[in-house]
Amino acid sequence: MRKKIIAGNWKMNKTLDESKELAEAVKKGISGISDVESALCPPFTSLTEVAKVLEGSNIGLGAQNCYWLESGAYTGEVAPSMIKSTGAAYVIIGHSERRGLFNETNESVNKKVKAALDAGLLPIMCVGEKLEEREKNRTFDVVKSHVEGGLKGINENDAKKIVIAYEPVWAIGTGKNATPEQAEEVHAYIRGLLKDLYSDDVADTVRIQYGGSVKPSNVEGLMGHKDIDGALVGGASLEADSFIELVKKTSEG
Ligand code: PEP
Repeated sequence: MRKKIIAGNWKMNKTLDESKELAEAVKKGISGISDVESALCPPFTSLTEVAKVLEGSNIGLGAQNCYWLESGAYTGEVAPSMIKSTGAAYVIIGHSERRGLFNETNESVNKKVKAALDAGLLPIMCVGEKLEEREKNRTFDVVKSHVEGGLKGINENDAKKIVIAYEPVWAIGTGKNATPEQAEEVHAYIRGLLKDLYSDDVADTVRIQYGGSVKPSNVEGLMGHKDIDGALVGGASLEADSFIELVKKTSEG
C-alpha cells in the first residue's frame, strides 16, 4: 500500500518571516495526521528556518532544485549535500518551469536525480507534456521520454525511492486541471513504463503525484484513483488553510 504524499511547492514566494509564519500555521493544522506524508518546499533561503519550525513534527522539508555536483566554481548553484544539511529530505527536480525557463533537459534532470540520491535526498521528479504536445497526441511520447531520460542508469533500489510528479504543463497555475480520468490515464501509463523499465515491485512501490491546479475542491476526485498517490501543489500551498484542507481531505479519502 503506497502512502499518499502531498508536497507544497512555494516556488519563488515567501520571505523568511512569511515562510516561518506559513510553516507554523501548517504545522498547527496537520501535525496530527500520519496516514498522509506531507512536505513543504520553500525557497532555499528559508530552508533552515522552516526546518526549525517543523522540528518534532511529521511534516517533511524539501528544496525546489539542486545542482548535480558537490562543490566548486558554480556561482549560484546549490549542492544536494548542502540541501541535506539543512534538514531537508526531498528535492523537486525537473519542474516544468525549470525545463521551460532555465533550459533543463532530460540529461540534466537525470544527473540531478542521481546526485540527489547519492546525497540521501528523495527526488520528486517532474514530468509532463505541454498543451501543444497534448493537442498533437504526443502526451505519452513526451512523458515516456521524461521518465526514461530522468531514470537512465538508476538501479531498481534507487528507483523505488523516487517520487514522480505528473504535471501537465497546461494545468500548472492556470486553474485548468486535468480531469481525474485524464490524470489517471497518464499515471497508469507511467506505472506501466516502470514495470517495463524495472519490475512489478518498482511499479507497485513508486509514488506518482499529480500536479496542476490542485485545490481543496478537486483533490478528492483525483485522489480516488488507484494510480494517483498524492499531489504536488503550487498555488494552493501558499495559504495555510488550503494546504491543510488538501492534506485533511487526502487523509479522509
Ligand atoms: C506546481 O508548480 O508544481 C503546480 C502544480 O502549481 P499549481 O498547483 O499552482 O498549478
